[in-house]
Amino acid sequence: MPKDQLDRLQLKLLKILARRVYDSSPFYHERMREAGMTPQDIRTLADVTKLPFMTKKDLRDGYPDKLFMRDRSELIRYHASSGTTGKPTIVGYTRNDVENWSESLARALTSIGLGKEDVIQVSNTYGLFSGGLGFHYAAEKIGAVVVPASTGNTERQLELIRDLEVTAIAATPSYLMYMGEVAEKMGIDIRRDTKLRSGLLGAEPWSDRMRDRIYETMGVRGFNCFGASELSGPMFLECAEQDGIHFWGDLALVEIIDPDSGEPLGPGQKGEMVVTMLQKEAFPMVRYRMGDITSIMEEPCPCGRAHPRLTRIQGRVDDMIIIRGINVFPSQVEHALMQHRELGNEFQIVVDRKDHMDSMLVRVELRPEAFTDDIVELNELREYISSRLKGVLNVSAKVELVQSGTLPRFEGKAKRVVDRREY
Ligand code: ADP
Ligand code: ZN
Repeated sequence: MPKDQLDRLQLKLLKILARRVYDSSPFYHERMREAGMTPQDIRTLADVTKLPFMTKKDLRDGYPDKLFMRDRSELIRYHASSGTTGKPTIVGYTRNDVENWSESLARALTSIGLGKEDVIQVSNTYGLFSGGLGFHYAAEKIGAVVVPASTGNTERQLELIRDLEVTAIAATPSYLMYMGEVAEKMGIDIRRDTKLRSGLLGAEPWSDRMRDRIYETMGVRGFNCFGASELSGPMFLECAEQDGIHFWGDLALVEIIDPDSGEPLGPGQKGEMVVTMLQKEAFPMVRYRMGDITSIMEEPCPCGRAHPRLTRIQGRVDDMIIIRGINVFPSQVEHALMQHRELGNEFQIVVDRKDHMDSMLVRVELRPEAFTDDIVELNELREYISSRLKGVLNVSAKVELVQSGTLPRFEGKAKRVVDRREY
């Protein structure tokens, strides 16, 4: 659909949505009333900024289902957020909500060339976490064969990949990297012994450097997938260009705002992602502040899709660690560490405070082949990495090189930060 046609469709859907939440959501009706507006105030797409924001707190305050606009008889599913930033929130779905969710991700899978001939292993957790079932429904919708592996039992997962000739896998990037390690120990060369070529990777921030590593070690092309339980689950993916995540314009209206002032930012400017789900029925998702930091890309995608494209998500506003007043995202640390061939894939950031001074320690695994008894050499490497980190982060960090295999591994979302400061 050409851009101007998509804009018209979005405006039409936005008007319908504003009317729907005004009429059926007492919560959002009240928000609109406080903002002194009615559905008639939406005349152009830019008028979306007149609508009041929603936040995670609204969902928490509404726990479990106070925000729902539909009767229980019209719901067919519940899921819950993974609770990264506090008490998990509950989301509900009507039949149309589940249908739109599957459609969204099915479209995404098609956009990277997957189809009936593919075998897709879903190695995201099945259950309350929306990842597993989200990919499951989408993969079935495109007629692929689904292997509902969920997480855990990693050796078995690898045997299935090999024996069932799995071509694509959905997982967190940290879990896929861990699978790579286990494969090596089992003597499975993913590139040579399996047909696995595509990774649908998301649910946590990751970097282009990690994408390169996954390709180099496993021959798997990683595609960045974005979602959140509030939106429905995993929904949006990069296309075959692997350059920015397409946000389907008929399902979601995405804006970028300045996280401090709430003012809209233009294309190319980095800020907080705000999403309006245009067709959601079970509960209102209007100008929802995701907390994720990204930007909308200016250039249209060479693939020809007019849907807006978002750059890699740097992290959440609340993932950000403030060290002596300087903002640091774990994804920046990851990016900097992955430049060094001597280092493995696992790292941990330990933040502490002594005598009112913040300190940051980055613990990172050394690759087995980079290990040496030469202390001087190791110290030099450590100092070098520390100075490179300082260059990127503008804050000094101590580095500790640890033996391969000693830091925690993750099947779901990785937890990289240990903050020991007392507030
Ligand atoms: P919770 O908020 O409890 O973690 P979810 O499981 O719904 O609940 O997680 C959604 C969040 O996961 C997003 O808001 C975002 O911070 C993160 N996320 C999902 N996909 C990606 C991705 N591809 N890159 C970076 N972050 C992501
Ligand atoms: Zn594209």
